[in-house]
Amino acid sequence: MRAVVYQGPHEVAVEDVDEPELQHPNDIIVDITTSAICGSDLHMYEGRTDADPGIVFGHENMGVIEEVGDGVSSLEEGDRVVLPFNVACGFCENCENGKTGFCTNVNPGFAGGAYGYVAMGPYKGGQAEKLRVPYADFNALKLPEGTEHEDSFALLADIFPTGWHGTRLADLQPGESIAIYGAGPVGTMAAYSAKIQGASEIYIVDRVESRLDLAEEHCDAVPINFEEKDPVEQIKEMHGGGVDKGVDAVGYQAIDSDKEGDSAYDPARENPAVVLNNLIHTVRPTGQLGIVGLYVPSDPGAPDAMAGQGRLGIDFGKLFEKGQKLGTGQCDVKSYNRQLRDLIIEGKADPSFYVSHRVGLDEAPEMYERFDNREEGVTKVLLEP
Ligand code: NAD
Ligand code: ZN
Repeated sequence: MRAVVYQGPHEVAVEDVDEPELQHPNDIIVDITTSAICGSDLHMYEGRTDADPGIVFGHENMGVIEEVGDGVSSLEEGDRVVLPFNVACGFCENCENGKTGFCTNVNPGFAGGAYGYVAMGPYKGGQAEKLRVPYADFNALKLPEGTEHEDSFALLADIFPTGWHGTRLADLQPGESIAIYGAGPVGTMAAYSAKIQGASEIYIVDRVESRLDLAEEHCDAVPINFEEKDPVEQIKEMHGGGVDKGVDAVGYQAIDSDKEGDSAYDPARENPAVVLNNLIHTVRPTGQLGIVGLYVPSDPGAPDAMAGQGRLGIDFGKLFEKGQKLGTGQCDVKSYNRQLRDLIIEGKADPSFYVSHRVGLDEAPEMYERFDNREEGVTKVLLEP
């Protein structure tokens, strides 16, 4: 079958790989209809990790069940399903508590598992014709038959729940104000979630105009371009004293507008602490921060390319002075995707506005490059194997 295979920094190719087979009675095989490219894939694509060539990418997967293991009881051949990017067992202490991003069984030695991702376990990705799904009764969410809402449902694998998770980590309450750093897929879904949850004011920070425009139009967010002027000052001019809540939807590859480089994307302009420090200054005393942008561990087992990048120069003293609270980590997709699916079915949410491209697998190499460049108008790319 055809699949998107990592070749090395800035290179993916569509190649023939072995078809997946049932390995356990709890497995299913899914015929993939849609698999999305994620900002998280770019960490591997850009060569920031020690991902080995040969990885089949793709953790944002949906499709139709082709084969069902003997031990699967709630799913049948022909069911249309979306798969959380997390691979989770369903019965460890974390899974029982809804913390499926931190399952202790699927990937021993690292907190949590995922499809097609370095350090996240042996699970192949779904940017391919077929995917094996373990613990399928737990991991597959059934969708209505047919093809309705295909774009919106595809976003249930990761970015809609992850954006929602950002607002929950920040404990957003109706009527509160919130600032979101990053208007990429995750940040815009956080802004959309904040709108649905009744935020009074939403500020969103980025520098890619088409991304800021979508958030303004569909999430009623106030766009802030951080390359024009310090975003903390811009927000405080409109909202003195600081906003109630904040979300980091950028992560450690953040651009620092105070740094100079050869081009806008020169790595010399990066500063993994800039967004966290901005958030601490943007949010009011005793406010809360939800960190869903990715940060990497610095412990001895961490990949070489990441070594040291987890130790950041953040102003922890300021956070302490302000008595702010902090929530972090992978999204527990399973804790949100059923409710968000039902909001879509009932017509109360339609996150598909963020999907800019739906293309065949063969166009993956070109679309990886364009999404990596954060090209204007390339917001969310869905691959259709
Ligand atoms: P993305 O990388 O395209 O989005 C990041 C956006 O941040 C870009 O639009 C970029 O222009 C903007 N940006 C860069 N520097 C900035 C700054 N200083 N201030 C404000 N904005 C800035 O992709 P994405 O898919 O939205 O992913 C965002 C982050 O979320 C990534 O780190 C990704 O790995 C992470 N992620 C986490 C989870 C989770 O479960 N916690 C899930 C999915 C993605
Ligand atoms: Zn993702």
